[in-house]
Parts: sequence; structure tokens; C-alpha cells
Amino acid sequence: MHLTGYSGLRPLPPAGDAERYVLCFSRYVVVDRKILKRPFTLERPPDWICPECSIGVLRIDSQTFHHQERAESRDHSHDAWEPDWIRYSFCCMARCTNDKCTETVSLSGSGSVDWSVYENERGHLEEIYADHFSPKYFEPPLKIIALPEECPDSVSEQVVESFRLVFASPSAAANSIRVAVEQLLTELKIKRFNVVNGKRRYISLHQRIDLLPSKYSELKDIILAIKWLGNTGSHSRGAITFDDVMDAYEFLEHILVEIYAQKSKKLKARAKTVNKKKGPAK
Ligand SMILES: [Zn+2]
Repeated sequence: MHLTGYSGLRPLPPAGDAERYVLCFSRYVVVDRKILKRPFTLERPPDWICPECSIGVLRIDSQTFHHQERAESRDHSHDAWEPDWIRYSFCCMARCTNDKCTETVSLSGSGSVDWSVYENERGHLEEIYADHFSPKYFEPPLKIIALPEECPDSVSEQVVESFRLVFASPSAAANSIRVAVEQLLTELKIKRFNVVNGKRRYISLHQRIDLLPSKYSELKDIILAIKWLGNTGSHSRGAITFDDVMDAYEFLEHILVEIYAQKSKKLKARAKTVNKKKGPAK
């Protein structure tokens, strides 16, 4: 039997406890990457954290949600046709639920039809076909990791650029993270080039990482891991997965916290001692 009557957007049960990709928001974001990766249904969208206030979550404005079937799948006349051959493009607006913020975010991406499990009125689990959507772009982009306030702009701008790319092109995002590391080394005063016979010879990222002073020695391996992921992202498109980029974010977040946030914590503690003693801390 051919399922030719599929008209899209089958009803699913109410969302209930919507899924959150942020598990902890005390100081640093902890990302549940599974929820960011998984296609969503309109009835059960994930709680994307607002990129403006980091407090509210984004809710899709259903009146702005548009999806259309792509040309590649519009012919349903094949004998073996099944609804899961359908491919969509979609776009919509989402708004932050924090009434002090109400940021608006546009998102767009692709969609398909897939099986979805739901509980019927008798409490039995049933499978039905439902439309599933995968965002490729958010504008402004979601914050995948939180950056310490002390992180220099030259680094954070590159990281934000990677947030913009991460769903559409993990390879391009990994490359942006690699550039952020180059900027970080420059901020840490690691030289970028040698002058040989009056000419500048640029130093490779690997060599620059080796030039880090000993106080950063525990971070070298982690920085090198980001370099390798970024190199793969630059040289072979498609070889880097969303999970690889999430690994790079976790490495980068650790490095930035160790370099900037910890330093700030120590400075604040020292200032507190000076203030308490109203003079030099011994
Ligand atoms: Zn907000």
C-alpha cells in the first residue's frame, strides 16, 4: 500500500517538559549536544536558550513558520514512494520568553518526514509519520559556550563567527575556532613570525603552541587538539562532524576559563586581601 495521502504536520501530544540543551547555567553553559543535533517537530521544539539574555528560551512564532517541499522530492508517483522521501526547506521567527528581553531570532533550515513515537489516549505507544526540521542558521546565532567577560574581542569575535556556522557547516565552524586559537596566542604575546634576511617568515600554529610559556604547559595538549580539528576542517570539507566541533568548543571553553576566568578570580581574591588589610598582602 502506498502512503500517498500524507499532508504534513501530523498532530503530536503537547510538549510537556520541553527539552533543554543547557543543563546548568550557574556560570558556564553545559551543552547537551544530543538536543541541539536532533531534528525537532513543531509540537516539541527544544528550548533554545536566548542568545541575547541567556535567561529566556526561544519560542517559535507559529504564524511565521513556513515550510515547502523541495523540488527534488515533489514527484510522489514512484511505485515505491514513501513519506520519508519528502524533503523541505523552512524558515520562521522565534521570540525570547523573558519579557525583559523579547529578542527576536530568525531561523531557517531543512526538513523531512520521519517516524515519531507518541502515547495514544489508551496510554499505548504508537508510531506516526511527522514533519521534522533541522535548523541550519540562527540570526543572531545561538551561544554554544559562554565566553569569560575577560576574553579579548579578537578571540570572542571569531568564536561568535563559528556559532554562526556550526549547524550549516561544522568544518567551517572548526576552522573559525582554529583562527580564534591563533588570535588567543597573539593576545598571549606569542610571536607570529620570525624576520630572516629582512623578510617575515610566519610561524606555524603548531610551533606557536610550542612557544607557550611553561605556565600554560597543562593547556598545550588541549590547544593542539583544537588545532588538529581545525586543520581537518580547513583541508577536507565534510570530514568534521557536529560532535567534533562540540569537542572543540569544550576544549576551547576550558582553555579560556583557565586563562581568563581563573586569573580574574585570583586577582579579585588578591584585591580583597589588600582591601581588608588596607595595605600590601603578605
Ligand atoms: Zn532573551
